[in-house]
Amino acid sequence: MANILKTHQSDWKYVSEGGATIVLSYIGPSRIPFDGKVLRLRKSKRQHPEVVDQLRDSRLDEAPDDPTIDFQSKCMARLIPPEHLPDLETVLLDDHWLEQLALLQDPHRPQSRREEDGIDFTRKKGVLATDLIGGNELSVEIKPKWGFLPQPAHLSLDTGPIKLRTCRFCMHNNLRAQRGQSLPMKYCPLDLFSGDINRVSKAISNLWDSWSKSESTINNLKIFARGKLLHPSQVNEMLSDPGDTSGSLDHIKSAFTSALLCCLMQTPVLQILSKLQRTLDVLDIEGLSSLWRRTLSSHPSLASESAPAIPLGVSSPFLSSPEPNIIDWETFIDSFLSPFSSGLDHLQPKAENIRYYLLAYLLSATVKDCSIIVRTDLLQLGKTSSKRKNTDSVTVIDLDPKKMDKLNKWEKLDAEIVNAYHNNGGSKICIDAWRG
Ligand SMILES: [Zn+2]
Repeated sequence: MANILKTHQSDWKYVSEGGATIVLSYIGPSRIPFDGKVLRLRKSKRQHPEVVDQLRDSRLDEAPDDPTIDFQSKCMARLIPPEHLPDLETVLLDDHWLEQLALLQDPHRPQSRREEDGIDFTRKKGVLATDLIGGNELSVEIKPKWGFLPQPAHLSLDTGPIKLRTCRFCMHNNLRAQRGQSLPMKYCPLDLFSGDINRVSKAISNLWDSWSKSESTINNLKIFARGKLLHPSQVNEMLSDPGDTSGSLDHIKSAFTSALLCCLMQTPVLQILSKLQRTLDVLDIEGLSSLWRRTLSSHPSLASESAPAIPLGVSSPFLSSPEPNIIDWETFIDSFLSPFSSGLDHLQPKAENIRYYLLAYLLSATVKDCSIIVRTDLLQLGKTSSKRKNTDSVTVIDLDPKKMDKLNKWEKLDAEIVNAYHNNGGSKICIDAWRG
């Protein structure tokens, strides 16, 4: 385990913070394993010293590892080659080191944040992770979303024709745009996942247009240059020479598209994600729900007409503690990667395998919701990007486990999205290039 206490507090530079964590990047003397890493620390509200002492005692039996680290190393690393995952490592902390760090770093934090909270000195552990946005490079974060059309077997006569024509993202975007929650987007994930150079290029171009029009508020594309999140008014900062004002916006967009296209056509990551999504979500939520109801009705205490309907994924006599722990997840991955899984007949799923299908669906949701970070050189106008980097620099992030108590909500949302799309007369044709 890396001994962070041997680094000086001034070796760390404040990068950013969210509601729960603060991120610092390593800028100290070149040293393995800290080079190219960020430190993620938990924050806490400003508290009375007595409360802090109690918390400190309660941390003595803190879980051995951050759940995200455990889930990534024990599950996702078996499905996605580790070279495409960020390194995540637990580091041990102590309160004295953290207090000194806070003294040095607090002046760099926004005033509004400093009044609210600070680094949690009572924590014994932090996370050391690959720094994916720092350095003299361009980092592009894409949230691709659902990369497949469902299999028809378990769709109803009403939803089938709609779901087999228009992909889930395009339908959902239509609903969100109607409600004023999003801009209408031309981006279709099936283009991005297609492996066809013209379609991938179109997907990048459409993402850029929405990023630009929405003033970078869409969450499917984020662009960082030299570690800084960019706004569309700062496109020149994507250039290796930010002072070069000779290029029009179109020039920069075209250089961006060609750089990203080069990385995305060479990486296996998109194919891996799309294949995982479709092999984990084999029944569609409709098929999963009908299997759930069939399983309920096969249980003696629930078979009668008067038995209350138990919503999808909710605790029931045959599923007493639905939320999977890390052991459940590991067991599931064993099954998923074994001949058991390839021997299942998804056209006629069996009630006894309900737990397998529930966990598979949850894991597909993780993969539908993750993001990728593409790292490439800063742009040079007038040069086409055909240079292949030595290392494939596409990394999958945000692979957190999803909870069973979401399934019921997702089932309702699915129906709502398809109904709204139908009622709105939507008829976009999305082509799934990998449809088997
Ligand atoms: Zn689509």
